[in-house]
Parts: sequence; structure tokens; C-alpha cells
Amino acid sequence: MGMGTVVSLNGILVDPDEARVSIFDRGFLYGDSVYEVVRTYDGVPFMLEAHLARLESSAARIGMRLPVPLSTFAEEVHTVHAASGNPDSYIRIVSTRGSGPLGLDPGLAEHPTHIVVAMPLNPPAPSVYAEGAAVALVSVRRNLRDAIDPMAKTGNYLNSVMALAEAKKAGAYEAIMLDHRDYVTEGASSNIFAVLGDTILTPALDAGILEGITRSAVFSACQEGGLRVLELPLTEAALRSADEVFITSSIREIVPIVTVDGAPVGAGKPGPVYAQIRKLFDAFVARYVAERK
Ligand code: PMP
Repeated sequence: MGMGTVVSLNGILVDPDEARVSIFDRGFLYGDSVYEVVRTYDGVPFMLEAHLARLESSAARIGMRLPVPLSTFAEEVHTVHAASGNPDSYIRIVSTRGSGPLGLDPGLAEHPTHIVVAMPLNPPAPSVYAEGAAVALVSVRRNLRDAIDPMAKTGNYLNSVMALAEAKKAGAYEAIMLDHRDYVTEGASSNIFAVLGDTILTPALDAGILEGITRSAVFSACQEGGLRVLELPLTEAALRSADEVFITSSIREIVPIVTVDGAPVGAGKPGPVYAQIRKLFDAFVARYVAERK
């Protein structure tokens, strides 16, 4: 493992090369786990409270008890970042239902595993923001809410893995998934926004999406800047005819999308609404960090 990688395994710092979990762990066997990805700005984990609240809600949605309190996860996040020496870190938190006798029954789970890992932050290149990126509307559909609810951020990520594989094959940067009724949901690991005329819209939570922390931060930033974001159903046709499109995620922040399946979005370059929201978001982050430094 490279410099700047620090692993906390069940609360103990271990050499990344020696960090091992049981082959009987249900996270390995079934994706029976929950996780979060957090990034720091100036060493401050951004929206950590919201990430931990979502970890807890994801666990509740799959009937899993977290092995330690959220405050312990928070301490471990600070510990791995501090030990990493990274100016800023990518931090992953994973908590599994545990290991035990083989079998699907969650009642068999005995020894929960939780890890917190810090790695050097590797954000997208500046050109991604300056020039924009491509998305593909893939054939893989987003999980039904009554299957694995997209609101739960579980380790069972095959839906997104397969979607991204299809997008990469098409030369795109991110996959966008429709639901079973052909409404736009979200990216493989991002939320999506579209600008149509004066309207900024994004699918509502009941579209069957993850409640992205960056999505929420964009709402807050827009509200402060007097911009209204509407949570509305987004059709494939509306997405394809949008003036601007952008995606959001913790590591990528806000990435302007300039082509959908190879066809240009609006003028085919990052637009003015993106630029405006970018400024508001950067100010929101700066203030968040300043208040916690
Ligand atoms: N949707 C999915 C399916 C994701 O995996 C992610 C990344 N966690 C997001 C949206 C964006 O969420 P966030 O802004 O909290 O990183």
C-alpha cells in the first residue's frame, strides 16, 4: 500500500498490508454491509455528521446494528486522517453484519467488522471541471425501492458496478440509470441535476435514489444564493433536451456534464448555472470548514 494509507480495523490501527477480515464475513460473502465515503477539506471531514447519520439509517434499513456508536466512528475518522499525513484524505467507512456459520439468515452473524480507511485524496483532474464530462444512459436499471432500497448505502453495489461497466464501455465518465418506468434516477455513484430554462431540477428521493450528501449541500448552497432547486420527476426526454446537466458526489463535488450518449448538452460546454452553483458550493464548503477549524 502507498503512502498516506491508514487502516483502522475494529478500532485498532493496522498495517494496510496486514489488514485482513474473515472469509466468513458477510460483507465479503453477500455485500451484507453498509458504507460511507467522506472527504476532508483542509483536514476537516466535510459533512461528517450527515455521513454518519446516513450510515446509521442505511444500517437500520437493512436491519443491521452498528457495532460501535457513531461518535466512535467519528473519532476513528479523525484518527486515520491525522495518522495519514495527507493534506486531505479520501476516507471510507465500512461496517459489516459480521461473520459466522455460512447461510443467508442474518441471525447467523456473530462478529461484526468495521473499518475506517484514510487514503490520499485523488479528485478529478481540473480539466473535468473546465471541459465537462460525458454520461451514458445505460440499459441497467436502478434497483427498485422494494428490492435493495437505493436509500441504503450498502456494500451490495453490483447494480452500480454493472451500470458503470456499461458506461465505461461506451467511453463515458459516469452511468445514468433509469428506473423501471423510464424515469431518470441517478448515476452509478452520483446524483444528477438538470437545468431546463429557468428551472433547476433533480429527482426527488421517492424516485428511488441515494440521498446524496453533496446533493443536500447543493440544496443548501442554492438556497443561500437565492436559487431554487425543484425535486421533480426527470424524464429521459427532459434529460436529453436539458440546457445543462451536472452530477454530484462527495469526491467529485459537482461535475458538469456536456454530453449524454454522445449528444451535446446545451452548448456542449459547462454552462452559466453550473458556474453559479459551483461558486455557491465552494463558499458553502469554505464556511463549513472555517467554522470547524
Ligand atoms: N448515488 C449513489 C448511488 C452513490 O453511490 C453516491 C456516492 N456515495 C451518490 C449518489 C452521491 O452521494 P454523496 O454526495 O453522499 O457522495
